[in-house]
Amino acid sequence: MNSQGPDLFPGYIGRFAPSPTGPMHFGSLVTALGSWLDARANQGTWLLRIEDIDPPREHAGAADSIKGTLDALGLHWDGEVIFQGQRLAYFDRALEVLAEKQLLYRCVCSRKSIRETVDEPGQTAGIYPGTCLNRVPENGQAHSLRIKTSGVHIEYADRIYGNFTENLATRCGDFIVKRRNGLHAYQLAVVVDDFRQAITHVVRGADLLDNTGRQTYLQSVLGYPRPAYMHLPVVLNSAGQKLSKQTGAHPLADDTLSDSLFSALTFLHQNPPAELSKALNSEILEWAMANWRPSFIRHAALAKNAG
Ligand code: GLU
Repeated sequence: MNSQGPDLFPGYIGRFAPSPTGPMHFGSLVTALGSWLDARANQGTWLLRIEDIDPPREHAGAADSIKGTLDALGLHWDGEVIFQGQRLAYFDRALEVLAEKQLLYRCVCSRKSIRETVDEPGQTAGIYPGTCLNRVPENGQAHSLRIKTSGVHIEYADRIYGNFTENLATRCGDFIVKRRNGLHAYQLAVVVDDFRQAITHVVRGADLLDNTGRQTYLQSVLGYPRPAYMHLPVVLNSAGQKLSKQTGAHPLADDTLSDSLFSALTFLHQNPPAELSKALNSEILEWAMANWRPSFIRHAALAKNAG
């Protein structure tokens, strides 16, 4: 038993890591709320990291809008906000470490040429076939950097969805850590910053569950400790698509934030009492923190898988 009680994770450090692609909507609220509650219920720290490493997808003002909405909800973060766009040197340093270990190679394939190769018999769609593994690109040719995955078997556990074993070579193949356009890949940046911010617990949407194997692999080759993972069910729209700006999600409205909080708790199977639906944000969060039960999410996910 730790000094804080039997059920707490001591030294908990969590984070919310949105990409600044638009204002917060119900789907991002569920993720933010779940990770905030998990951190606060464990008397932990909750950090905010803006993942602005993909400028073409970003929207001016989105980071400020996300911060403003979190504040108005009462989801207050600890310490300074980190912007990944200001941390590129850390990602380059990690690439150097991977290169020193001879794990990287240059790849000149375009998406189109990969699609054409994987359409050939015997190739599985979506898995890089290793075309550039033994090919030396000409000098000056635009290239991405891929990490080798041959023979890599990964095991990881998720607090909601259970245990996974993956053969990375057949699951995703050699994957990109630096893109052809010079931008660092999400997989690399997220792993480096989770390490540099000493994150102990990652709580995020289940759309990222199948990235965990790749991230776990990067952590092991870079010598980083592995955080605990909890993936939350993803909010879908009426067409069954993940709610996002691209699929028409409405931004959260300032005058109905407490309704949104109540609905997000219901979505997370926390069974908030009906009278809370008329309460202030602070009262809703107070109740939710005291009654946070990730096991309810797990049971619902298990029941769904069984059904
Ligand atoms: N930036 C990612 C997103 O907004 C989340 C990354 C993560 O939580 O690992 O989808």
